[in-house]
Amino acid sequence: MSRASNALKHPPVTAPSEPAGAPPSFAQIEAAVEKQRRRGRGAQSNGSGRYEAEARVAFDDGWQSLDDLPPFKTTVALDTARKVITRNDSPDIGFDRSINPYRGCEHGCVYCFARPTHAYLGLSPGLDFETKLFAKPDAPQLLEKELAASGYEPRMIAIGTNTDPYQPIERDRKIIRGILEVLDRASHPVGIVTKSALVTRDIDILARMAKRNLAKVAISVTTLDPKLSRAMEPRASTPPKRL
Ligand code: SF4
Repeated sequence: MSRASNALKHPPVTAPSEPAGAPPSFAQIEAAVEKQRRRGRGAQSNGSGRYEAEARVAFDDGWQSLDDLPPFKTTVALDTARKVITRNDSPDIGFDRSINPYRGCEHGCVYCFARPTHAYLGLSPGLDFETKLFAKPDAPQLLEKELAASGYEPRMIAIGTNTDPYQPIERDRKIIRGILEVLDRASHPVGIVTKSALVTRDIDILARMAKRNLAKVAISVTTLDPKLSRAMEPRASTPPKRL
């Protein structure tokens, strides 16, 4: 094939701002995602996780190929963990055990401190964290086994310390409800933190446990300004609903 016909097959490429061979800049790695692809989401970028050997950067090669990319959709994969209670011995934390029925959180708060944990899964702390979710459907059965193990000493289990147990996918999956049923039967203390009004769905169990001094629920409210809340916590309950 002649040199001239080859030239016709290549699109015009924007000259890279970095010299050839230079490592990608921070701005390139953290490349912002188009607004219409992240509508209703918190993060503006989807930079590769810190443990990845390679960074993936969306780059328009001149064919406007980035225009065809679909919006980020929520997907839920199974987390087949063998244990559900996570322990810690940090002197800075007021509990020594916790349960997180989900990894990732669709509430998508821009300031969420749990975002970097998605890098352990080879995923981005950005948009992946709020769209590529993992659920532990066996959590109630696993918990029942762990509570029944010889030598287990009951102490308050904290729920919602990493990701929100009442995020939107809980509405259908009802994993946290199954966990509460187990804790209620075992008369085991629990503490819950959430930004979702969905917690009121389980008020029957929580009220029963609270009467025995076994349950407390904290609602996280960062602002009463609905506009600010929508920008910072796009899929959490609105401030009036949380109140
Ligand atoms: S609700 Fe909590 S866990 Fe979910 S994104 Fe917001 S801060 Fe993170």
